[in-house]
Amino acid sequence: MSTPRAFDPRKLDVAAFAAEHGALAGELPISHLSRLSKDALPQPEAGATVRWAAQGLKREVAGGGVEARLQLQAATTLQLVCQRCLQPVTVALDVQSRLRFVGDEALAEELDADSEEDVLALGTALDLHALIEDELILALPLVPRHERCPQPLPWSPEAPPAGAPEPAEHPFAALAALRRNGGTPG
Ligand SMILES: [Zn+2]
Repeated sequence: MSTPRAFDPRKLDVAAFAAEHGALAGELPISHLSRLSKDALPQPEAGATVRWAAQGLKREVAGGGVEARLQLQAATTLQLVCQRCLQPVTVALDVQSRLRFVGDEALAEELDADSEEDVLALGTALDLHALIEDELILALPLVPRHERCPQPLPWSPEAPPAGAPEPAEHPFAALAALRRNGGTPG
C-alpha cells in the first residue's frame, strides 16, 4: 500500500486524483482572485477567504472505461454594490458543482452543450484555484441588491452626492413620459 500522493491544486493531475479518490481542501485569500474581486468592494475584515474542498471520483461509463469526476465546493462572502441604493451589500456565495472529464476538447464541447454537468477535457494539469474562481464568478448575482435597502437612504438633503441624478418617482414614470413625448405612432 503506497502512501497517498500529495496533489498540487495549482497543477492537479485529475486522472490520478480521481483514480485515487483524492481529496483536497483549503482557503484562498479573496485578494488573490482578481477576476472575482474586480467588482467587489474592499472586504470589511482583512484576510477574507474562499473556503473550498474538492473530491476526485471515478465513474464507469457505458461501453467500458472510466471517467474522472470532480466534486467541488466553494463558499465565501463578498461586498458588492447594491444596484438599487448604491450602498455595500454582503453577498454569500456557496457553490457546489460536479465536473466530468473526458478525453479531448472536441468531445468535451459536444457533451457540455447537452449536459447538465460541466464537461471539461482531461488535461495533465488543472488549475483548481482558477476553476474555483470560475465557478464563483458564475454564481455571482447579475444584479446585486439588498433584499431590503437600508432606510432611510443615507443621502442628507444638505449634501446630495455630486452629479447624482434626481431619483425618479417611479422607474417607469420617466420612460412613460419619454414614450408620450416621443409620439410613437399608435
Ligand atoms: Zn440597497
